[in-house]
Amino acid sequence: MPHRKTIAGQVEQLIGSLCGASICDDCITDRLNLSVRSQANVVTRELGHREKYGRAKTPCGQCGALKTAIQIKIQGANWRKLFAFS
Ligand SMILES: [Zn+2]
Repeated sequence: MPHRKTIAGQVEQLIGSLCGASICDDCITDRLNLSVRSQANVVTRELGHREKYGRAKTPCGQCGALKTAIQIKIQGANWRKLFAFS
């Protein structure tokens, strides 16, 4: 996979690297050193519509805050179980 420099590409890569752990927009902003949070928000909102990702109000796997966070759906993982708590 080629290294993409776009913010969307970086966000996708970051979410994928968490192996199913959730991450909120603030943590994405922090991890990728984005200048404003809305840059992450635009991307996660878009990704949230895809089958591959789940986006819901859930405790963030990084900072622990209960907010809208996104995670990649890992096949075979107990994704539904994780979301049963939200
Ligand atoms: Zn967070």
